[in-house]
Amino acid sequence: MKRPCGASDGDENGCFDLFCGAGPVGLSLAAQLHALGVSCQIFDKNECRSDQSKAFVVWGRSLELLDTCMDAHEFVTVGRPVRKARFYQAGRPFAELDFTTQKSEFGTGVLIPQSATERLLEGYLSECDLVVQRSTELLSFEQGDHDVTCVLREAKGGTENRSCEISGRL
Ligand SMILES: Cc1cc2nc3c(=O)[nH]c(=O)nc-3n(C[C@H](O)[C@H](O)[C@H](O)COP(=O)(O)OP(=O)(O)OC[C@H]3O[C@@H](n4cnc5c(N)ncnc54)[C@H](O)[C@@H]3O)c2cc1C
Repeated sequence: MKRPCGASDGDENGCFDLFCGAGPVGLSLAAQLHALGVSCQIFDKNECRSDQSKAFVVWGRSLELLDTCMDAHEFVTVGRPVRKARFYQAGRPFAELDFTTQKSEFGTGVLIPQSATERLLEGYLSECDLVVQRSTELLSFEQGDHDVTCVLREAKGGTENRSCEISGRL
């Protein structure tokens, strides 16, 4: 089931919440806050999504929370349910943990590559017209009385570096 997208025009002062990093944490937080009507901008220093997986489990409770804004069942379709862990020594199994007793509709969680997690989250966000701004690196930020000024560097064409300042709340 699709959930409604939130606002995207900034708050009454045109202020955005700025997310540095389009990893699972930045994207999940942006999805949750965007669904609550908080305006967001996400950027990442990398040109494209990494195919190197660090996180490979999304736990059931995380899926329950994501399901409040997007259809988290997509993670179950793409990933594999966490059911059991079996421990081996010298090639012989000696212990087993059963994860099937969780009452959550998402069970304990799903095994899913980080790139797939990011693709699903980015897919939901792009449906909300929230696209990750890539090749953009946060160089520094400074806390003001009412906002935060960030210095970002955008790499255009890989040769030219440009600095800009964005005010936002971090
Ligand atoms: C070796 C290793 C093994 C791990 N194994 C597991 C595991 O088995 N299971 C598990 O759940 N977790 C594992 N983790 C933890 C894993 O890092 C996190 O679960 C997950 O990657 C955290 O997501 P994240 O969004 O916080 O960070 P990341 O996935 O690291 O994403 C951060 C993003 O921010 C961007 N970024 C960083 N600095 C800037 C900047 N200045 N400006 C713009 N963009 C920036 C990066 O390009 C990146 O895309 C492991 C971590 C490591 C290092």
